[in-house]
Amino acid sequence: MSSGNEKFDYDYFVIGGGSGGVRSSRIASKLGARVALAEEKKLGGTCVNVGCIPKKLFCYASHFRELFHDAHSYGWPKIDMKLEDHNWKKFIESKNAEIQRLNDAYEKTEKDANVKVLKGHATLKDKHTVIVNGKEYTSKYILLAVGGHPVIPKIEGHEHIITSDDAFFLENLPKKVTIVGGGYIALEFACIFHGFGCEVSLILRGKTILRSFDEDVRSKLTDELKKNGINFRFETEIESVEKLSDEAFRVKFKNDKTTIDTNLVMFAIGRKPQIENLGLDIVGVKTDDKDVIQVDDYSQTNIPNIYAVGDCTDRTALTPVAIQEGHYLANMLFKNEQPRKVDYATVGTTVFSEPAIGTCGVTEQQAIEKYGPDGYDVYESTFKPMFVQLPKRDRKSYVKLIVEKDSQRVVGIHIMDHAAPEIIQMCSVAIRAGATKELFDHSIGIHPTSAEEIVQIR
Ligand code: FAD
Ligand code: NDP
Repeated sequence: MSSGNEKFDYDYFVIGGGSGGVRSSRIASKLGARVALAEEKKLGGTCVNVGCIPKKLFCYASHFRELFHDAHSYGWPKIDMKLEDHNWKKFIESKNAEIQRLNDAYEKTEKDANVKVLKGHATLKDKHTVIVNGKEYTSKYILLAVGGHPVIPKIEGHEHIITSDDAFFLENLPKKVTIVGGGYIALEFACIFHGFGCEVSLILRGKTILRSFDEDVRSKLTDELKKNGINFRFETEIESVEKLSDEAFRVKFKNDKTTIDTNLVMFAIGRKPQIENLGLDIVGVKTDDKDVIQVDDYSQTNIPNIYAVGDCTDRTALTPVAIQEGHYLANMLFKNEQPRKVDYATVGTTVFSEPAIGTCGVTEQQAIEKYGPDGYDVYESTFKPMFVQLPKRDRKSYVKLIVEKDSQRVVGIHIMDHAAPEIIQMCSVAIRAGATKELFDHSIGIHPTSAEEIVQIR
């Protein structure tokens, strides 16, 4: 279909074939736009190659040791697996094959949608021109969906430090692992390595994990992780990393100058937008001092025909968010649809720790600011999940509901439980729909589950 913009090679040129870019390009093309997409690595971006997907496979793999152990209490033979029993190479091969399958599926999706995929690094030449592999392409609109990369500080011995990108391709499972950070990636990998049987130390510069999460959830998860055997060092930073041998490193702490020896040092201290050699300065696209591309509510940069979505902007760095930003943008540009804003306040999110966290809506700390100290009620329940009763594991689950007093609407739900990632999805629908506490109370629980706690809290 002709779009009437033939003075440009394309109507829409997307830079970055990750979560946001792939969705936006496909939708735009289906709406009749002539679309090209440039990707310098592999289609699928962070999520498929070094993020959500391999991470979840790592989570699954790491759970089996505990499951095998606990099976004994359910009448199965006693099997105590050790780190050495796991065939890491075989697992990584299976994981890589699955990622390749997804890369191929993404290629096919783009081809079927008639998106022209260009393999190579893309750089802006001017506000309508992109260069890929030395060739120039003009486009009416340009989307920057370039994602981010992990940060490593330039401390002494930084060349020995790995990030989550490398963790997915380790040759062997290390015995002792030291992880710096207290965010999503640090916690998920701490639990993954611990699940496999590694000795894990978590190093935090502050007093708490998951700083933006509800305080009760944070402290309860910290307790569970400590009980599981993860070592914590709060309020400390690493000064240097010394290589002792190919698989041994000495970490020195800044404050007390003590050291620990470890087989792996991983930093998970946040990610930065991937804007190197993108040509933003040439075109004048505004970024902040952290390289974040500045956009308005509709993903438009200060250059009117250039847009940005996903992790290269300063919004919620999650795959489904990047996808929705990209989808809404394509609809706005190529379908005569009213522009839609993404509702960031009701995004449900999960930390795939063990136990996992699911969270949506306001934390109690935010409720105090928003509704005042007497403007909300809290309903909470701490319980032992049924599965751990027979193995006699000392493990707790937790559910917390925050209800705005005036409207009686449930405005925040926070869950710590193995099933939290599955439960929180429908909670986000309920919060978006403005469900009241009464509606929750009159909904009948599903028994016996952890989820039923949410409708039974009084
Ligand atoms: P990306 O997916 O990063 O895609 C950007 C693409 O652009 C990349 O493929 C890159 O190669 C390409 N590119 C960059 N510059 C150029 C250029 N100049 N030319 C050509 N190509 C270029 N989110 C969840 O929702 N759930 C999870 O469980 C989850 N787990 C995660 C685990 C880890 C370890 C990490 C790191 C992230 C995780 N995330 C998770 C976050 C999620 O992966 C990101 O939010 C999401 O991938 C962002 O999508 P994006 O389109 O903005 O960028
Ligand atoms: P986060 O922003 O989640 O956490 C960063 C952590 O690093 C914080 O604990 C922070 O501490 C700490 N930190 C920051 N700078 C330093 C420093 N210089 N020295 C020591 N510690 C430091 O980042 P991640 O890298 O864990 O993940 C990036 C993003 O990817 C996440 O925010 C999330 O959006 C997404 N993601 C989502 C997942 C999911 O959906 N399950 C899984 C993985 C990633 P402090 O609190 O003191 O600032």
